[in-house]
Amino acid sequence: MKLLVTGGAGFIGSNFVLYMIREHPNYEIINVDALTYAGNLENLRNVEGHPNYHFVKADITERGELESIFQSGIDAVINFAAESHVDRSILQPDIFVKTNILGTQVLLDLAKQYNVGKYVQVSTDEVYGTLGETGLFTEETPLAPNSPYSASKAGADLLVRAYHETFGMNVNITRCSNNYGPYQFPEKLIPLMIQNALNDKLLPVYGDGLNVRDWLYVEDHCSAIDLVLHQGRSGEVYNVGGCNERNNMQVVRTILEALGKPESLITYVKDRLGHDRRYAIDADKIRRELGWEPKFDYESGIKSTIDWYLSNKVWMEQVVTGAYQQYYATQYLER
Ligand code: NAD
Repeated sequence: MKLLVTGGAGFIGSNFVLYMIREHPNYEIINVDALTYAGNLENLRNVEGHPNYHFVKADITERGELESIFQSGIDAVINFAAESHVDRSILQPDIFVKTNILGTQVLLDLAKQYNVGKYVQVSTDEVYGTLGETGLFTEETPLAPNSPYSASKAGADLLVRAYHETFGMNVNITRCSNNYGPYQFPEKLIPLMIQNALNDKLLPVYGDGLNVRDWLYVEDHCSAIDLVLHQGRSGEVYNVGGCNERNNMQVVRTILEALGKPESLITYVKDRLGHDRRYAIDADKIRRELGWEPKFDYESGIKSTIDWYLSNKVWMEQVVTGAYQQYYATQYLER
């Protein structure tokens, strides 16, 4: 099988590339990534030089940069490439519309033109909006995105659906809850808190810190996508989540405890605009239909994640550029 993985230099995409090369060493993988601030080829050092792995720097919104890849014959596209950070979507929504919606449409169009057998769109539970204290998102929950990020992901999902309905394309959409694990850019909650705690810097917590997310170890997300790629029924959406609901304060306290740092490092900052209160996934469909089971419980997953960041301090320092420092100051220090 020849796979086109987009966004494979980002957090989940690079974990997916490493996972697929391990699980399916005979597959050929072409990783297309524009290498934005979130893309980092260091994540893929272990597969550099592997005969079945190729990297192409290209932008998914630029059809001309992708055409020759599709001409070479692709069996499946797995689209991870996206602008992925909610806070940045509040500051600069236009790039989210461009990459997430237009980029998806360009990929769908090329997949249609070159008769690609399968298209998998990696989406998010955030397209469903927010939950109250009870209830779970199912695949039938109406889309009600609240941030420019989730609205752009929902727009992309609707295009994927439309290409299935209109052109009969073999597509799937996965909607996963929050991921954690190695190689996550330190603007996201868990690596941000680990990095700040390690440097004895304040840990900025939004609002009252009681927003709830359903955490899944990234490798369990990769195994779900692998199953959907091979066995997903055409046109179907699959929710992915591990029943690991934790509020932000619980996550932060676990990190402080593991690193032996004091709670006095916690500082409450002005809440994110439109901050969704709770996400929680009903993943019964993918478990029942495809036999997916997460392997990692939250306690061991978070522990090995913290250990990974402790062993990879150089990686952490390298990915945090001057541009990120400027963003960090705008986001947390100048408000
Ligand atoms: P990320 O920000 O770490 O990585 C995104 C990657 O896409 C980067 O390597 C970046 O360089 C690349 N990219 C951005 N714009 C591009 C463009 N125009 N052309 C080509 N490449 C481009 O994101 P992530 O956390 O790994 O998320 C990957 C996907 O999974 C996204 O689609 C996201 O919506 C989805 N998702 C993420 C989570 C999560 O918890 N992180 C949960 C569910 C779904």
